[in-house]
Amino acid sequence: MKKRVSVETVNEVNKFVADTVRELSAKYNVKKPLVVIGRFGCQYVPYEEGRLCVSNRFYPFWEIDKEKAKKVVKWSVAHEFGHHLQYLRGALPSLFDIHLMFNPKLESEANELAESYTNVPASEYSAIVDELSKIMKKEYVKKLPELEATEV
Ligand SMILES: [Zn+2]
Repeated sequence: MKKRVSVETVNEVNKFVADTVRELSAKYNVKKPLVVIGRFGCQYVPYEEGRLCVSNRFYPFWEIDKEKAKKVVKWSVAHEFGHHLQYLRGALPSLFDIHLMFNPKLESEANELAESYTNVPASEYSAIVDELSKIMKKEYVKKLPELEATEV
């Protein structure tokens, strides 16, 4: 029988993501983006106040290994927050030019922000995501909880 994540986990992860977004917004003294936790994974949507999206895989990750999960959640939020800063300074292409969105310069800038904020190198982030994803696929049901655009 495959597992479902508990309500307690959902609440803890939502709070951890919200706290991280608030801390980064205060640190950089900018308006907070809305937060989305869902199946479309980690990405930033440059629209209105901004949508900072992280993967709902982080819910099972949290139950598998909380310390490792905290590292990757923080890292992902910081990376997407890097795109939020780019959006606010007008460096991101508009939503309608989404095909232009992948830009190695903007990506490496977001990675640098994540690495310096968490002290976790990108290689360690990827290794943890791979490790916990394998366990998640074996042990958890496919359908995971989601959080729609929320003010934090
Ligand atoms: Zn990115």
